[in-house]
Parts: sequence; C-alpha cells; structure tokens
Amino acid sequence: MNQHAIVIGAGLAGSSAAERLAARGWKIDLIERAHAPAQGASGNVAGVLRPLPSLDDNRLARLTRAGFEHACRHFAALTAAGQALRWGQTGVLHLARDETHAATQQRVVEIRKAAADQLYFVDRQQARKLAAWPVASGGWWFPGGGWVDPGSLCRANLARYATAITAHYAAEVAQIDRPADLWRARNAAGDVIAAAPVLILANATTARHFAVTAHLPLRAARGQVSHLAATAGSAPDVVVCRLGYVTPAIDGLRCAGATFSVDDGEAALRESDHAENLAKLDFILPGYGNGIQARDLAGRVGFRPLSPDRLPMIGAIGDAAAIDPDAPSPSTLRNAAPARSLPDQRLRRPRHRLVGSRRRTARLPGHRRPPAAAR
Ligand SMILES: Cc1cc2nc3c(=O)[nH]c(=O)nc-3n(C[C@H](O)[C@H](O)[C@H](O)COP(=O)(O)OP(=O)(O)OC[C@H]3O[C@@H](n4cnc5c(N)ncnc54)[C@H](O)[C@@H]3O)c2cc1C
Repeated sequence: MNQHAIVIGAGLAGSSAAERLAARGWKIDLIERAHAPAQGASGNVAGVLRPLPSLDDNRLARLTRAGFEHACRHFAALTAAGQALRWGQTGVLHLARDETHAATQQRVVEIRKAAADQLYFVDRQQARKLAAWPVASGGWWFPGGGWVDPGSLCRANLARYATAITAHYAAEVAQIDRPADLWRARNAAGDVIAAAPVLILANATTARHFAVTAHLPLRAARGQVSHLAATAGSAPDVVVCRLGYVTPAIDGLRCAGATFSVDDGEAALRESDHAENLAKLDFILPGYGNGIQARDLAGRVGFRPLSPDRLPMIGAIGDAAAIDPDAPSPSTLRNAAPARSLPDQRLRRPRHRLVGSRRRTARLPGHRRPPAAAR
C-alpha cells in the first residue's frame, strides 16, 4: 500500500498518530480546523502524567501503565532530538480520599508488587513532607510521574519528522468519502483538502459528524481548570491529586481542577466551576485556597472526548448497518482484545453507561456535585 495517510485533528491523538507513522516512513496530510495544533482538549497548560493502577490490574490499569511507560520513553526521545517539549518529572502524590481507599491503595501496591521506582504507598507524614503542606491522608507516590504541557507535546510530535507531515491549518473537514481506493477529506464547499488510501480520525467527538462514524458511542465532557497565581519554588512542587489535582508552579501559575460535566457545551468560564475547583483544592491541600476568590480566577475550558469504558477506539471503522443488534457474536465477546477494535461488538448493547456513571462517586465535604473524575 502507498504509505500515505490523512490525519484529521492536531491534538494529542492526531499529532501522536502522525509522528509514529512518519517515523515509519509514512507521508501525512494533517488537517486541523484551528490555526495551530492543540487548540482543543489538548491545549491545557498542563496535564497530569501517571498510570491508574487497580487491584485486578484491569484493562485500564494495564493500558495506562503501558501508556505511561511509552510516554516517558517518547518524551526522552523528543527531548534528545532537540524538540522543545515541556514537562516536569516531579512525581505525583495521589492521596487517599478516605481510610477505605487508603487500604485499597496499600493493597494494590502489595498485590501488584509494583516496582519500587514506579509506585510506593506513603503514610500521612511522608505525604505531608512530599507535598510540603499538611494533608489529611497518605496515598500513592509515583516518583516517575509528573506533568506535561500537552501543546508542546503536539508541536514536538509534528516537528520531529516535519518534512513528512504536510499540515493544513484553518481547514475544517465537512465530509469524508471513499469513491474508489482513496479517502477524500472535503471542506464545506466540497473542495478536496487531501486524498490518501488511509484516513485517521483524531478529531475527538466531532468524528460523529461523518456519516460512516455517526454511530460511535462518543460523548464530550466539559472540563474547566482554574489557574492560580504561583511563585516559582512555592509548595507544592509535586503534582498532588485527591478527587482533583493541583500542579507545581508552571510559568507563574498553578493549575487546579478539574470539573467534569457530560454533554455540557458551554465554552465560557464559569465562576461556579472555579468554586468547585477551589473546593477540590481544599480537599487536597486543606486551607491552601484560603483568601482566593472564585470570581478572580482565570482558567481554561476544554471538552474531553469520552468512550463509554474509557478505553481507546482504535482500528478500522466497520459498517454499523451490518451489525445485527439481535445476534450477539459469542466468539467476538470470548476473544475480546485488550484494546477494542471498531466496530465494537458491544455496540449491539442498547445502552452505554458513561465512564463517570460507572465510577465510584464520592462527594467533597460540603459540596453538592459528585466529582466524577480527577481530571
Ligand atoms: C479540563 C481537562 C483536564 C484534563 N486533564 C488531563 C490530565 O491531567 N491528564 C490526561 O492524561 N488527560 C487529561 N485530559 C484529557 C486530555 O486532554 C484529552 O484526552 C486529550 O487532549 C484528547 O486529545 P484529542 O487529540 O483526542 O482531542 P483534541 O485535543 O480535542 O483534538 C481534536 C482536534 O480535532 C480538531 N477538529 C475537530 N473537528 C475537526 C474537523 N472537522 N476538521 C478538522 N479538525 C477538526 C479540533 O480542532 C482539535 O484540535 C483533560 C481534559 C480536560 C478537558
């Protein structure tokens, strides 16, 4: 096959796919509706980087461990190649939300026999030292974790093999079709932006705007991060999580967040969401936000693309119309692969529960809304 692909979307997904294909000798046409990469969910100041271990070492745990290990190697390679990637391997302290959770965290460390350089359980005193702030509980300590500036990662991905990647910015794909052997991406006027034998959809939830992928169980979760003024070297200088997160100081600010609301399309910042982030901050680092008013805060809103089970959607798009909802395929279910291919046979199931609804919910003290995610 002609090693030529169109990638739609220049966020973390699209820039990563483009970089990996370009490294293998592929030519890429990258199409992005914004004027630059990382203007969607991938445009936050910082994202938290660490795996999500579980007692049963489930798919999400295995996947995030592999992703974390890959990310660390990839970041080192980008840096060695001279790319201006911004990240800090400061360590991540994930405090237990209560005693039951602390016991589970301890058990995970014992059962999984996690390599000591990847995961420890620390008691409250040790946690207090790591955070340089009085905290309410002990928790997991990931010394190799940290934060990354996702925009710098997208730009570094695209710059590493720049000659192989033709970027079309300010170009919105309105329609895709494949009349013969080539996929064509067209704008609203019907003009072909690019054509190639392979098309990769990395345009988050708007993948559903195309007829062939309209059936995908994708939804958006609005997330607001609050930006707090911070002086360099002030505490904490590690990432601290507890039903929310707070980062070290990055360019004079600290990110605290984040809210999580499904199918909520409001792009403007909300004072009530800043207040929610301040409540989370108080749960993580008691008293840290005293004197900070929600109305004074800046921040950023993004929309997370969500799959029902939080696993990635990877693989060839199937013909949804050919799937018989009344005829489940036992062999497919029996041989389920670790990361799903599309179309997922589970599309036959009439109802998809959103990730947030399946997660154990907990309430912040004195707070009305259940924080469905720590990011
Ligand atoms: C508040 C918040 C906090 C988060 N915190 C963390 C965290 O701490 N750690 C972590 O790992 N993850 C975090 N995430 C999740 C992470 O940011 C997302 O999973 C990730 O950025 C998704 O990347 P993406 O490339 O799939 O989507 P996006 O970054 O949204 O990229 C999709 C791109 O496609 C483009 N596009 C869409 N439609 C078209 C079209 N028709 N034609 C051309 N271009 C198009 C968009 O402009 C956009 O640039 C957070 C997300 C949010 C919102």
